[in-house]
Amino acid sequence: MANTLEILAKYWRHTAFRPGQEEIINSVLAGKDTLALLPTGGGKSICFQVPALAQKGLCLVISPLIALMNDQVENLKQRGIKAMAITSAMNWHEIRIAFMNCINGEYKFLYISPERLHTEVFLKNLHDLKISMIAVDEAHCISQWGYDFRPSYLKIAELRDLLPKVPIIALTASATDKVIEDIQQRLEFVKPSVFKSTFARKNLHYIVQYEDDKIGRLFSICNKIEGTGIVYVRNRRKTVEIAEILKQYNIKADFYHAGLKADERQRKQADWINNKTRIIVSTNAFGMGIDKPDVRFVVHMDLPDSLEAYFQEAGRGGRDGNVSYAVLLFQQMDAENLLQSVEQSFPQFDEVKQSYQAIANYFQIAIGAGNGMSFDFNLEVICNNYKLKPVTMFNSIRFLEKEGYLSLQDNGYEQSKVMILFHKQDLYNFEIKHPKFEKVLKGLLRNYGGLFEEHVHINEFVLAKRLLISVPELEDQLRRLTKLEVIEYIPKSQLPKLIFTANRVDAKRLELSPENYKLLKKTAQERADSVIRYATDKNVCRNRLLLTYFDETTIEDCGNCDVCLKRKRDVHNVELHSLSTQILNVLHNHPHKLDDLVSLFYRFDKALVVESINELAEANEIKIDKNKMVKIK
Ligand code: ADP
Repeated sequence: MANTLEILAKYWRHTAFRPGQEEIINSVLAGKDTLALLPTGGGKSICFQVPALAQKGLCLVISPLIALMNDQVENLKQRGIKAMAITSAMNWHEIRIAFMNCINGEYKFLYISPERLHTEVFLKNLHDLKISMIAVDEAHCISQWGYDFRPSYLKIAELRDLLPKVPIIALTASATDKVIEDIQQRLEFVKPSVFKSTFARKNLHYIVQYEDDKIGRLFSICNKIEGTGIVYVRNRRKTVEIAEILKQYNIKADFYHAGLKADERQRKQADWINNKTRIIVSTNAFGMGIDKPDVRFVVHMDLPDSLEAYFQEAGRGGRDGNVSYAVLLFQQMDAENLLQSVEQSFPQFDEVKQSYQAIANYFQIAIGAGNGMSFDFNLEVICNNYKLKPVTMFNSIRFLEKEGYLSLQDNGYEQSKVMILFHKQDLYNFEIKHPKFEKVLKGLLRNYGGLFEEHVHINEFVLAKRLLISVPELEDQLRRLTKLEVIEYIPKSQLPKLIFTANRVDAKRLELSPENYKLLKKTAQERADSVIRYATDKNVCRNRLLLTYFDETTIEDCGNCDVCLKRKRDVHNVELHSLSTQILNVLHNHPHKLDDLVSLFYRFDKALVVESINELAEANEIKIDKNKMVKIK
């Protein structure tokens, strides 16, 4: 077995493990089922990636979001580690090829969507994959108490029967005791071993500010704190408006939300990471998988849905360990708006059924079919077609997701893909017969490897430039070659993917559980209440409040949040007042020199004595006469 530190240095160029990482890695290597709880940015990936590299075999990684998987696979590939993802956004042909390559290609990591776990092709290939460990990322998704429950996660336990000797490592960035218990139970941990590192972020200063003029305050924050920032708002319109206002004041700002095309999102994100944009104003769509160390402030203009979400979003600040501010701007109306938005996220059952029917009809899914199919999803188009309200449709999908019927996902930065379906000799013959395709086919082969074996990422813009043709011309040829079944060209999608996670049922027969509905609504309301409590509490240290929420016990007041600072100021003011009174008493009898007063009040800081004297002088209580302080009668 290779030394884990050597692996860390070889692939990541890090010289030491962060607190907690080594213990987690050792537990996994000892074959124990391990639950690792580390805050966002704490370095969870390394906890399963290093032990996977230290042993033979494949690490199966179950992850809920396609974008997250694509990001991680890209990241591993850049480090020279063989990894691939089998996502719900892929077609059956891609999936089949991917499995074949995975079995033959000595891959180290296979990322897979949980819905793919019980497909025939997976089960058929399971034992040939030679799985050494299973990593369950975002493990809180398995718990109904978690803030992001996904029913497909419940299926993971079935793997235990199929692979009884393979240990599981579950990872999450947020878990209360209840969720921790639930994760272990649902994943059927055999020899459990739980590691929870503190969620305290010492360099993060939490501030809640009651503010009627939020824009004015934001502007002042941007001016006072140097460096990069993220501003979170609840809706897309506001991202545009606020970025515009900041730009008018010469602050390099841009907006970001999930309604933008993938290209545009990628560009905006890159500009921000490379410091071309200083402030990104965004909905909660921004931030996942982003690892920018020097974010100096994260401002929330509206209340988030949960403290889990707040902790994660605010936690994007200060990953480099330097001071960073997490500011929540709040006004009374916000609490009502949040509660109302929780109410709105739970449409009536007949609205949910109507949305389901519209979606299934739009994509022409027959009853009894559809499981595993994925489609580019344009919310506006479907809503216009069926005269439905986008907010109702969106929230209906969210509920149908919890009930295991659909899943709506962003696929992140996946590029277009091409695979050549012909054998080499056939391709050669084809080129001779169809010379007009020769240039593009030769161009593909010259610029990309592995095209006969698997779907390879291509960049149309780069390829067209090299071939001296236009991008539309290239795309047109790739599409034609696909029609002729010479190649398979899968253009990158600009839209989120809608995935059917069960076969279509008659909308009238849709089984929507009122108990689930009630439970989900109740927990959503409780989460909103916790956020409101965080925003309105004036007495408890913010750090303490947050960590108590995550059931952390040994917590100190942070000394840096607005509550702690105010307390320090209050104490300071009381001390100052008491000292001033004592100084006046002394001066009442005789004038004194500064040094004498400092000696007399040696129990106080010299700075406080000076401050007292200055205040008394300003208030015309004392004057300075020949180097001595004199009380004014
Ligand atoms: P998480 O998944 O917990 O949010 P990541 O695994 O993405 O966090 O890690 C966050 C960042 O910390 C990454 O840039 C990663 O390379 C870095 N990191 C992780 N472990 C270490 C370490 N031992 N030393 C230095 N940097 C590390």
